[in-house]
Amino acid sequence: MPGKIWFVGAGPGDPDLITVKGRKLLEQAGAILYAGSLVDQAATLHAPAGCEIRDSKDMTLEEMVAWLLDQASRHAIVIRLQTGDPGLYGALIEMTRPLTAAGIEWAVVPGVSSAMASMAAAGETLTLPEVTQTVILTRTAGRTPMPEGEDLEALAAHHCTLCIYLSITLLHEVQDALRAAGWREDAPILVVQKASWPGQEKIVRGTLADIKAKCQEEKIGSQAMIVASPTLGAANWETLVRSKLYDPEFTHRFRKATPIKP
Ligand code: SAH
Repeated sequence: MPGKIWFVGAGPGDPDLITVKGRKLLEQAGAILYAGSLVDQAATLHAPAGCEIRDSKDMTLEEMVAWLLDQASRHAIVIRLQTGDPGLYGALIEMTRPLTAAGIEWAVVPGVSSAMASMAAAGETLTLPEVTQTVILTRTAGRTPMPEGEDLEALAAHHCTLCIYLSITLLHEVQDALRAAGWREDAPILVVQKASWPGQEKIVRGTLADIKAKCQEEKIGSQAMIVASPTLGAANWETLVRSKLYDPEFTHRFRKATPIKP
């Protein structure tokens, strides 16, 4: 019986941010193929003695699939360990299709994505009542073209929270797109490099006008999340619309309203 291949989200960098399910699988793994430097710690920390561990950074997709198939012929549990969540910019389907074609079972274990880790690091929220209730996870084109209707300017026109992956080297394009969509020069922008990495995380707060200069000052050129959101800085606002869920005057399934007396 061939083994099963698990696509496991390692989380954003802190080895403690992998899920319990992901960690348990690592502890039983016969072989682990991990994606670059971001997740090697999780792999080596939790893998059992004798586990076959391989970095995929110099492999093509075909080589990775061949490696996974070969390991699955020898081990019950084979893991492809990826940063954040495997379903976000992770070439997941390109890898699973040949496995299905070869008759190999596979499954996905989700992970904490770097967008969530970046906002957590900065003590910021992705949504806020009556400010924005929508989050867009996206990127700029780079070498992978954006499908029609998904260019950043069009997405930014929603004025919701934008978490922009894979784009720190194209920060000027992000600035141009936000400007073209009508974001103000003083709109707050957050950049977090290596969110959750113990001792290596960098948080840069700026505005649409100055974020690029600030990132250059901090020498941030890779592994960074750009967040543009009308929620940024809300911890320090003077007024805030309350969340209905915890509002004393709001009844819901688990709690009856207790009207506030004047
Ligand atoms: N699957 C991953 C994303 C992979 S694409 C996830 O869910 O997070 C790689 C991009 O993710 C990087 O260019 C960067 O924008 C972002 N990224 C990954 N880890 C990060 C971290 N620890 N801090 C900030 N951004 C990170």
